[in-house]
Amino acid sequence: MKPEFTALGGTLAIDFVNTVQWHGGTVHDVLMSPTDLNEWLQFMVDHEQLTSAQYRSVTIVPMTSDDLALLKSFRTVGRDYLSGGLAEGDFVEHLHRAAEDTPLILRLDRTHGGYARVAMPVDGGSRGLVTLLAADWMRLFAEGIVSRIKACANARCLAYFVDVSGRRKWCSMADCGNRIKNARYHQRRQGI
Ligand SMILES: [Zn+2]
Repeated sequence: MKPEFTALGGTLAIDFVNTVQWHGGTVHDVLMSPTDLNEWLQFMVDHEQLTSAQYRSVTIVPMTSDDLALLKSFRTVGRDYLSGGLAEGDFVEHLHRAAEDTPLILRLDRTHGGYARVAMPVDGGSRGLVTLLAADWMRLFAEGIVSRIKACANARCLAYFVDVSGRRKWCSMADCGNRIKNARYHQRRQGI
């Protein structure tokens, strides 16, 4: 079965980290081509992690394989930080450098109930997207959410999520939660 995009991270930055997945016993990168990236960006719009205006701004120039490489290196740095391989100060410095490259412009977009504040990158393409990702990471730090990011309790799973309740262990019950519970059940039955 082909791995699918997930929105279980609950924020743009974490959902992007989760574009590398453990699936069917192997590691899959769901962003293998610029087309995959465009589809993922649309998926983020569908899950309200990007506005339509941000999507249009980022995709105003066609993504290339160079764009994909830049984004993947940003993703790797984020995963290194979350897995403990990169110090917090170094990661924060990396976010600063990434955000300096393409500034954001704040604007108000009409919503049903009033206005939403929307940050638009001055450049499109991967540089604009990296800035949006860096800005979301900064929000996670500023709002104290970073300390609630957890890795899935399935040791082989690569997913991260924001643990809002303080009790969540799995990326999803349907995937890892049930799989681990079933494995334990079979082990007990076999007397392992
Ligand atoms: Zn999992």
